[in-house]
Amino acid sequence: MDFSATEREEALRAEVRAVLAEPDVRAELDRVRRSSRREPDVRPLYRMLGRRGLLAVSWPEEFGGRGAAHTEAAAVIEELVHGGVPDMLHVLSVQIVGLFLLQAGSPEQKAAHLPGLAAGERFATVLYTEPQTGSDLASLRTTARPDGDGGHLLTGEKIYGLKSGMSDLALCAARTREGSSKYDGISLFLVDLAAPGVTRGLIDSIADDAFDRVVLDGVRTGAGALLGEEGEGWALLSRCLAIERTGLDYSLKAARWYRAALSGIDDVARTDGALLEEVGRLGAAVDSGRLLAWEVISRLDEGEADPTAAAVAKYYTSETAQEVAVWATTGRGFRYGAGEPGVDEADLLEAAYREAPGLTLSAGTSQIMLELVASSAFDAVMES
Ligand SMILES: Cc1cc2nc3c(=O)[nH]c(=O)nc-3n(C[C@H](O)[C@H](O)[C@H](O)COP(=O)(O)OP(=O)(O)OC[C@H]3O[C@@H](n4cnc5c(N)ncnc54)[C@H](O)[C@@H]3O)c2cc1C
Repeated sequence: MDFSATEREEALRAEVRAVLAEPDVRAELDRVRRSSRREPDVRPLYRMLGRRGLLAVSWPEEFGGRGAAHTEAAAVIEELVHGGVPDMLHVLSVQIVGLFLLQAGSPEQKAAHLPGLAAGERFATVLYTEPQTGSDLASLRTTARPDGDGGHLLTGEKIYGLKSGMSDLALCAARTREGSSKYDGISLFLVDLAAPGVTRGLIDSIADDAFDRVVLDGVRTGAGALLGEEGEGWALLSRCLAIERTGLDYSLKAARWYRAALSGIDDVARTDGALLEEVGRLGAAVDSGRLLAWEVISRLDEGEADPTAAAVAKYYTSETAQEVAVWATTGRGFRYGAGEPGVDEADLLEAAYREAPGLTLSAGTSQIMLELVASSAFDAVMES
């Protein structure tokens, strides 16, 4: 892969910087960054970005994108995050659910949902995890029964999702039938979160983003909500999880926190050999993580995400981001002052420290990523 930036990527980065400097966007971004809420509402800001065509540049124009490459979309996302735009809702809505719909949705599903997501008018989240089901997702218990009208009735409880309260739509995994194995009989649905029978609540978290609890009590999906074939959702789910694991979001956290950490090293600490060694080692890890993420993203341009490369990227970037957050907050030699406009570096890193434990759990735990890599290597040896 060629890691040098293309002219189009540079032009998009410049466009993002110019948009973020526009007075109304700047004012909205400042409102979000100065908000005293742990989870400020980013939707008005996203709407502004959506109106300027910056939320989903890699999607086809008919769905509100610009037909750009995935690497060009990654350049836009990097620049938005560097500019201080919170990315969690974008990751869920555009980078995971939207991109998955683009790959696996029917023409009707794409037409119904993608333009709203690209415009920042509607938002989507992911409902997989259940009280008894995390890593072993195939053991999920939420059921979907035919409603006799071409749709399904969903019943179950989903936990540890994020941003359900700000979302209109959810990608939800449910069991439509008992199958020959636990992987057989799982289906994926698009669920309207405003539908009768949906109850959204919060589960507290040490991180700024609270977890969601979403109870589905006989929720009518309506016809056309099923993604792919009934009962064949496991293969689709695996594709969606690979999309979720590019590592880009984790690599951006690592880079932002690393930059903040460097700003806290004063003149005295600059002569500390052990500290400088860590600066070099973690700096190299941050850069390597970014390259791994970009490698996965560039493969999206060639077709689909490679699940093993995605697992490597997710593992490495999340472990690195976690290590940087802990180092920057508990290591010796740091003294933080005001940093990026509107952001106190100490506050940023304190929040990073609280977010850090979740990084190696979300989107698949580190142990599961290692297991995916090991089993892929094992399969390759057996095939050779
Ligand atoms: C910040 C954050 C955001 C999240 N966002 C979402 C979301 O948007 N939607 C959603 O549905 N869920 C979300 N989750 C939930 C997340 O997907 C689960 O937490 C994750 O899959 C792990 O499941 P669990 O918490 O039940 O832990 P478990 O699966 O019970 O794992 C507990 C521990 O056991 C280890 N373990 C489990 N199985 C194995 C094994 N086979 N081999 C070795 N070790 C193993 C794990 O690595 C982990 O250390 C989020 C979680 C976090 C922290």
